[in-house]
Amino acid sequence: MTIGVLGLQGAVAEHINQLESLGAHGVIVKTPEQLEQVDGLILPGGESTTMRKLIDRYGFLEPLKQFSKNQKPIFGTCAGMVLVANELSESTDAHLQLMDIRVKRNAFGRQKESFEAVLEIKGLDTPFSAVFIRAPYIETAGNNVEVLATFDGHIVAAKQHHILTSAFHPELTGDTRFLQLFLNMVKEATQAIPK
Ligand code: GLN
Repeated sequence: MTIGVLGLQGAVAEHINQLESLGAHGVIVKTPEQLEQVDGLILPGGESTTMRKLIDRYGFLEPLKQFSKNQKPIFGTCAGMVLVANELSESTDAHLQLMDIRVKRNAFGRQKESFEAVLEIKGLDTPFSAVFIRAPYIETAGNNVEVLATFDGHIVAAKQHHILTSAFHPELTGDTRFLQLFLNMVKEATQAIPK
């Protein structure tokens, strides 16, 4: 199983390490052509506005949308959550628009720029210690979105068909269970799509 990590900006290497520790092949995706070679894609944390500029500069916008149209799984962490949202709370300029969610950026305020919280996550048997860094949250979600975790009454992890998203950074902890949820989605999808 080959998983790409969009390598334009942000926390890329940490995802690659975690992928390799689970026996998946991790590839840093720097050109749109590389999307052809991966079964699933991670949009990492970083700065969504910068990432969007680089997506435009390197011609990634349409290829990323097409990747999703092909039902290939995508996992957006933190800034990646901002990228997949259909709507943003404080801007009319949403990015990839792959998921029926409205996302608020930097949503936990200045006093909570970065923190760790123990979450109950749907699909995991025991609590998960999650790292949040200038994190967004999901303000509203459509009926077709499955909420996987909340914190302080706000949605911080969710899934809609082949799109998974988390406001926290699962790649920054030694706990690989959240990434494994994504790998399970990719495995199912590769079995469903004839090559
Ligand atoms: N605040 C960043 C943004 O809105 C996300 C931060 C992160 O990815 N850790 O793009």
